[in-house]
Amino acid sequence: MLGLMQSQPLLISSLIDHAERHGGDGEIVSRRVEGDIHRYTWRDVAQRARQVARALDGLNLLFSDRVATLAWNGYRHLELYFGVSGSGRVLHTINPRLHPDQIAWIANHAEDQVLCFDATFLPLVQAIHGRCPGIRQYVLLCDAGKVPAGTGIPGLVSYEDWIGAQPASYDWPSFDENSASSMCYTSGTTGNPKAALYSHRSTLLHAYAAALPDVMALSARDSVLPVVPMFHVNAWGIPYSAALTGCKLVFPGPALDGKSVYELIETEKVTYAAGVPTVWQMLLGHMKPDNLRFSTLKRTVIGGSACPPAMIRAFGEDYGVDVLHAWGMTEMSPLGTLCTLKNKHLAMPLEEQNRIRLKQGRAIFGVDMKIVDGAGQELAWDGRTPGDLYVKGPWIVREYFKGEGGDPLVDGWFPTGDVATIDADGFLQITDRSKDVIKSGGEWISSIDIENIAMSHPAVQMAACVGMPHPKWDERPVVAVVRRAGMELSRDELLRFYDGKIAKWQVPDDVVFVDAIPLGATGKMLKTRLRESLKGYKLP
Ligand code: ADP
Repeated sequence: MLGLMQSQPLLISSLIDHAERHGGDGEIVSRRVEGDIHRYTWRDVAQRARQVARALDGLNLLFSDRVATLAWNGYRHLELYFGVSGSGRVLHTINPRLHPDQIAWIANHAEDQVLCFDATFLPLVQAIHGRCPGIRQYVLLCDAGKVPAGTGIPGLVSYEDWIGAQPASYDWPSFDENSASSMCYTSGTTGNPKAALYSHRSTLLHAYAAALPDVMALSARDSVLPVVPMFHVNAWGIPYSAALTGCKLVFPGPALDGKSVYELIETEKVTYAAGVPTVWQMLLGHMKPDNLRFSTLKRTVIGGSACPPAMIRAFGEDYGVDVLHAWGMTEMSPLGTLCTLKNKHLAMPLEEQNRIRLKQGRAIFGVDMKIVDGAGQELAWDGRTPGDLYVKGPWIVREYFKGEGGDPLVDGWFPTGDVATIDADGFLQITDRSKDVIKSGGEWISSIDIENIAMSHPAVQMAACVGMPHPKWDERPVVAVVRRAGMELSRDELLRFYDGKIAKWQVPDDVVFVDAIPLGATGKMLKTRLRESLKGYKLP
């Protein structure tokens, strides 16, 4: 017997309809590429998303055709999120930090037909458009009449001219909720990138889950600053959850430096912010010398790479901001776990609580996880035994776009490529990516542990640990360190700093001082590049 409740497909258009009808006056504030601040409301987003849909109809774009963006976090990008997917097309957000050759490859592989881009990326688009024959409409995200002359890009039109002439009425089509809604390519640190193809259903389920109190706890009372980019994994789904809750959204545009982000947090009374550790490092670096304070910020979600303990402490103890450590990946829409304490932890001393906060947290309902050994046997949740992390759930990939890379699943589980422990309370802790874990004498050493300890030293600005070949032990850890400007630190002093913090055999064999740690397109340390730069290096 079937239930007798109404059946409506879970579609992205319903999010923007809801935002318009029930949170219509919620504010959207954007720092534009031009540098000024733009303000309007969810009602305006909804109206202009419909105009986007009309403009796409005008191009005779079919259901599931791809519309690409190369854009910062801003209001026009938000309109494209809803207009493109809502009308049944697929939004393809491209990471502009990738190499131009890779961007051209991705646009062709995705078969993009329209490319909407911010003025920042005009030179990039000028460089690649000749190699992307499938793109038939280029749209510059700028005011009417502001397309510069002589760009060489055929048919380039301003976004405002493109949607401006369109009527604001539009009936969102209804279709199967499993239809594709958006796509995002993984960084492709090895080989060509592969795309996760999200569906309306996966996006809506993720949007509900992300807003839960033990996840991002988003509400209509929040002013939310996603510093995490809309060009990579949908800014962790915040645009969708924001429409669902009707919260205020604050977009930083291209200005991600500490000063700009701080000013935006203060002037827009941001209560909640989300970003990767490298961005928060810039923010804290800006605040500390002048002893600046937050007047409204209460919570920040940090993920994408391991959040250093020193950062969790600085936010919590110096600024009264709760850090919610999160873990996920492109293939997971991206949220998998988020670290919030349980009731029984509340009476614990702060130090102990902080030790828990360091973990990446508990699985969100909708994500199941397990750790396995090399033979695929499930390992104990004892908080000590590391294993390969597998996940499954309705917002996790089943297969990559166009079947690239074959069937990624093992008995229905997606192998994440991460190595983790899980404790008896279900708290996950990522100890490494499987390709970064250091294998020394048959034991595993967590490169993240070694980096975290180094980064808790006051003279260390950044640290990255890699395994170096060793004749006896197979591999031994070496830590590359960027010293803080104006501070002294010797190799021996840093090595002594490890005493008592980890087992002796886990202490790195050497310290290499470098000017910078290479970062990838999503702001993560690029250990492949670091290893290349250490070619010829010999362990002491
Ligand atoms: P990529 O395209 O580089 O895979 P993702 O954004 O999908 O980029 O990155 C996912 C990976 O990032 C995870 O598999 C994990 O290794 C790492 N990661 C994400 N969040 C965290 C975290 N909080 N702590 C440690 N590692 C993390």
